[in-house]
Amino acid sequence: MDQATHFHPFTWIEDLKRDGPNVMTEGKGVRIKDIHGNEYLDGMAGLWCVNLGYGCEEVTEAIAAQSKRLSFFHAFNGMSTDVVIEAADELLKRAPVPMARVFFGASGSDANETQIKLIWYYNNLLGRPNKKKIIARWNAYHGSGVMTSSLTGLPSMHNLFDLPIGPILHVTAPHHYRKAAEGQSERDFSRALAAELEELIAREGADTIAAFFAEPVMGAGGLIAPPEGYFEEIVPILKRHDILLVLDEVVSGFGRLGTYWGSQTFNVEPDLITSAKGVTSGYFPMSACFISPKIWDVIESSSPKAGLFAHGYTYSAHPVGAAAALAALKAIDDRKVVENVAEVGPYLHRSMKAAFRDDPLVGEIRGVGLMIGIELVRDKATKEAFPASDRVGRRVLQAAAKEGLITRALGDTLVFAPPLVINHAEIDELVQKFKQAVEAVRGTVA
Ligand code: PLP
Repeated sequence: MDQATHFHPFTWIEDLKRDGPNVMTEGKGVRIKDIHGNEYLDGMAGLWCVNLGYGCEEVTEAIAAQSKRLSFFHAFNGMSTDVVIEAADELLKRAPVPMARVFFGASGSDANETQIKLIWYYNNLLGRPNKKKIIARWNAYHGSGVMTSSLTGLPSMHNLFDLPIGPILHVTAPHHYRKAAEGQSERDFSRALAAELEELIAREGADTIAAFFAEPVMGAGGLIAPPEGYFEEIVPILKRHDILLVLDEVVSGFGRLGTYWGSQTFNVEPDLITSAKGVTSGYFPMSACFISPKIWDVIESSSPKAGLFAHGYTYSAHPVGAAAALAALKAIDDRKVVENVAEVGPYLHRSMKAAFRDDPLVGEIRGVGLMIGIELVRDKATKEAFPASDRVGRRVLQAAAKEGLITRALGDTLVFAPPLVINHAEIDELVQKFKQAVEAVRGTVA
């Protein structure tokens, strides 16, 4: 019935026709079960979102209680709900730098669409109608809307969709393993990327560039952690040219890197922050954009002239989402989730490196906190990749599923971003099962 009725997101239809769907039915902690009763350790926390693990009763009960009390009301025309007011306040208290307002949506994509519109609105209010271009990086993932797919730096999301559109400029991904020159240190690579940025700004004109979007650690584009000194090199350039920095913390927010925010891991002060996923631990679709005082002050003081702020979604500030967020934020504190990641994140990296460092199939193991990517290569010395048509990553993913482990294949980079409540024993199990999956595929790759 799934094959006959359901148009799946991000699915190769040929694969679905051949292999059929994998139907999940229940979950508890870091584990989920499929319709046949097979159990899996979910090494991806759903889609990097179920940070508190499955079946977190504080959150499920808050959702049930709020949907009984007031299942929906909106926030247009100055309307509000008690839980939404409280959620905005709790979020602002947790912001990594002083922030003035929170704007709610229902997904990371709609939140980044909001950010783009806010940036254009802000520059129009300032009388800078030409300062509109936005810089993003190749390999970035910022969502699936028309503008957010355009920001995203993945050709598969552009080809056949007539994208990118709009005033978007892409720069090189901060991918030391694949993009640095032979023998170039991480710091020198960061300097080269900063020089590329400077040249782009000089070529286009700073008065035409509004903002720079960045995930602290790139996720869906290959799990790429910035090289040493990256943000240190580029942020002063953005500041000098009055280019806003938008940190897309949809994955990294709420603890995944071992600090509450990714910006804290890299010591960066953003003008705008996009969050979603972990804000409710994926229990309810919700996003939250954080707006800095510098931007809010312009928007607020221009209001008499600008009139209605004509942007928003039916589900902006959904009260059930707000109740889920309040419960999730409290559970993150009560369960010391960020402290757990600071402890088990490095343990995951150490364990994975101990298991695979000398493996000829493994080119690089990278990431930060509970974000780890293992890139498989045909030749470790030359970094030669397998032909894409061999689909080695997918084969490892399928072998892992047989072992009872969910991973995600981004090409031939296998990634893990497990629930943030994972413990040492579960990490041992994850690494062990992954090792068995790689062994199962090893003999079949040339
Ligand atoms: N930004 C980042 C960094 C993401 O990883 C994602 C989704 O994975 C998004 C934005 C888009 O979020 P959504 O799928 O909720 O629209």
